[in-house]
Amino acid sequence: MAGEKHTPVGYDDTPVLPGQPWRVHDSKRPQPRVVAPGDGAGAPSDATVLFDGSDTSGWVNKEGGPIGWTVENGYMQVEPKTGNISSKAEFGDCQLHIEFAVPKEVKGSSQGRGNSGIFLMGLYEVQVLDGYDNPTYADGLTGAIYGQFPPLVNACRKPGEWQAYDILFVAPRYQDDKLVSPAYLTVILNGVMLHHHKAAHGPTGHKNLSSYDPAHGPKGPLMLQDHGDLVRFRKIWMREFGDYDDKA
Ligand code: MG
Repeated sequence: MAGEKHTPVGYDDTPVLPGQPWRVHDSKRPQPRVVAPGDGAGAPSDATVLFDGSDTSGWVNKEGGPIGWTVENGYMQVEPKTGNISSKAEFGDCQLHIEFAVPKEVKGSSQGRGNSGIFLMGLYEVQVLDGYDNPTYADGLTGAIYGQFPPLVNACRKPGEWQAYDILFVAPRYQDDKLVSPAYLTVILNGVMLHHHKAAHGPTGHKNLSSYDPAHGPKGPLMLQDHGDLVRFRKIWMREFGDYDDKA
């Protein structure tokens, strides 16, 4: 079109970025992969959907069999005494989205009220609890890296309301069974940051100190806890981390 200004798509005469093979605004630098964002809390196009509201074929109970949890109305709900459930898919570094609701009818107190848990790699628990006006020990509150770090703030919604976790998890690294770097967790609950790149002391324990010894593998399942309370989960999806300049 007459008079239209041509804008170059990158440059080839700019300085090389320190530690990178690319120039500033490099015209040859690969384009990021295209990912279609989800609709609202929907899964992005490159996510692994772990639970879509009805299909539990990607989950197993402790014995490796079908899960005993209740599935209805787009969510699954803990069926007490049927045990924890784990995804068949295993992950290391990942972005996790998961929504939960604790029972609307308040029963019990402290750790006995709306308790469940989200275990990254089956080992590192981000606590699920009814933490709305429910006194308990701080490192056991909703969003705690359980038994290690309380959430920075209490961002719980009221009992019965759906709440959303977005978690960035960096798996620990071992070399020859020696820890090289710990697990790191960034946790956002209902749009509010609870932890930023927090180093865990090791896999989650109860009433004890955690340790990275013995070493564990580089990947593990997502595990959800049966703590005996009727906690519901929905919209569970996971994305593994890519790297800069991955091929489209
Ligand atoms: Mg728990």
